[in-house]
Amino acid sequence: MIGIFGGTFDPIHYGHLRTALEVMQGAGLDEVRFIPLHQAVHREQPVVGGRSRLQMIRAAIRGQPGFVADDRELRRQGESYTVDTLGSLRAEFGDRSICLIVGGDAFREFLTWHRPLEILDLANLIVMQRPGHSDFSDPSLQALISERKAEHSELIRQQPAGRIFFQPVTQLEISATRIRAMVAAGASARYLMPEAVLRVIQKNNHYSG
Ligand code: ATP
Repeated sequence: MIGIFGGTFDPIHYGHLRTALEVMQGAGLDEVRFIPLHQAVHREQPVVGGRSRLQMIRAAIRGQPGFVADDRELRRQGESYTVDTLGSLRAEFGDRSICLIVGGDAFREFLTWHRPLEILDLANLIVMQRPGHSDFSDPSLQALISERKAEHSELIRQQPAGRIFFQPVTQLEISATRIRAMVAAGASARYLMPEAVLRVIQKNNHYSG
């Protein structure tokens, strides 16, 4: 069972790392692949280059069994569409279960993504939720949930794609945007991310404005 955690990771921080670990353990994933995007589709472009963001991911996950840095979106160039990334993973991993990990906020917009139903043909979704929060009131999304919801992680283990599983996680209020602002202002961003990531930032003067 392969978990896919995509994002800008500009930089990676404990908000990403803690939730990824909880999802891996909670849903019983064999691995979580961190995939930094090359070119954002729906948001501002990253501040530092792809290779530097990958270097920070590698520094952050070193020594954690099951965590993998995956550079396929950087190698592919162009806009980083999730559906293309999943197509490439599917070609590589055959009929293994592939689980795209998304935050509750991102999932609320899921039906506006590029080719969402093809995404579900290629992968299961694991939606990270704060315990007690499940406000998905859009009727089309509600219909999708009732059709596709997996009550147990066993179902996303058995089926390679097509199901939606909700995983409660401890959501830490950490954002990369705030970290970049702190570093630019000369404030310490210590304890928001692994020391190894801070060292990469300091050594390369990332985000210093
Ligand atoms: P930015 O502040 O630059 O928008 P970010 O901190 O939100 O960045 P991203 O790299 O854009 O980080 O996020 C990648 C994925 O991680 C997204 O799916 C996002 O929902 C999730 N994520 C971001 N921050 C957290 C957090 N604190 N806890 C859990 N998940 C998070």
